[in-house]
Amino acid sequence: MPALRSAFIALSRNPALRGFSESSTIGRRMSSRFVAGMEIGDVLHAAEALNAHGISATLDSLGENVATPDEARRSADVYHRLLDDIHRRGLNANVSVKLTQMGLELDPALAEQIAAELVAHAVETGNFVRIDMEGSALTQVTLDIVKRIHAGQSGGKPNRGHVGVVIQAYLYRSEQDIAELLAEGIRIRLCKGAYQEPPQLAFPAKADVDQNFVRLMRMLVRSGVYHGIATHDDAMIEATRQFVTERNIAPSEFEFQMLYGVRRDLQRSLVEQGYGMRVYIPFGHEWYPYFMRRLAERPANVLFLAKNFFKN
Ligand SMILES: Cc1cc2nc3c(=O)[nH]c(=O)nc-3n(C[C@H](O)[C@H](O)[C@H](O)COP(=O)(O)OP(=O)(O)OC[C@H]3O[C@@H](n4cnc5c(N)ncnc54)[C@H](O)[C@@H]3O)c2cc1C
Repeated sequence: MPALRSAFIALSRNPALRGFSESSTIGRRMSSRFVAGMEIGDVLHAAEALNAHGISATLDSLGENVATPDEARRSADVYHRLLDDIHRRGLNANVSVKLTQMGLELDPALAEQIAAELVAHAVETGNFVRIDMEGSALTQVTLDIVKRIHAGQSGGKPNRGHVGVVIQAYLYRSEQDIAELLAEGIRIRLCKGAYQEPPQLAFPAKADVDQNFVRLMRMLVRSGVYHGIATHDDAMIEATRQFVTERNIAPSEFEFQMLYGVRRDLQRSLVEQGYGMRVYIPFGHEWYPYFMRRLAERPANVLFLAKNFFKN
């Protein structure tokens, strides 16, 4: 399986395949299981449908690296519209943002300014901005930006509680990062990690990643700060349920998070058991790298998608 995972991650970076897939009808049909649609209306509709089942949402306008500051600003405009639409429609949803989409690799100061403007908008509308975590070359700069914004103010009100970040259990550094973020009361989404990382930086074996995930989950759910435990893995979910039951930690003190279209049965069943569930809903034309990372996680999805594609 690791070879297949690497192959899908390599394909996720292939520009020719990406161009072809994103512009083809077949590609769009294949992606629709994991991507809510191409337009803002599509993602709002998907969030409404999940809200009706007691599931909250985080909305992601797909796109990763941008080539110019104008492109970064246009990416941010979509998020400003989302924050307004969420507020206007009273949706139970926040937003997830990648700093590379806000120009991090062009000009970190610009990305920080754009992210701070989004957080200011979230403060104004009573919402929250989650900064996604990308490859390890960007971990430190991402954490530094989040910490600075979290410590700041917008319109005379503190940003505290309106911005959070993501920690990846596959990185050796994550325990230390969590300790530092918790000292500042920053909300964290814990996930395993979706990028290809070298063994000098990340646990190569799934068993070690899983063990670290459980260790970090325990740090988070007992911290008194509201965090997200993001996984579709039955073993990780069971370990969380067991730990919070043993420690009398109420389900309202954290939430589970899953990706749109993945383990929908489990999403609903956890809600029925009284747990908070937030689903990450991506949308937009630039769906290809996101989609290929989902296939890398579970190559069996290729068969699943092919079967459904040919059934339609
Ligand atoms: C809400 C959310 C936000 C995320 N944000 C980030 C981020 O900012 N940065 C980052 O690097 N990664 C992010 N990820 C991705 C994450 O790092 C993992 O790559 C992904 O969640 C797969 O890990 P897993 O814990 O589900 O377990 P895995 O060990 O990958 O899988 C365990 C089991 O879960 C099920 N499963 C897992 N994936 C799928 C799938 N695609 N389809 C069907 N079943 C599946 C299967 O039963 C599988 O055997 C996010 C994930 C979620 C849920």
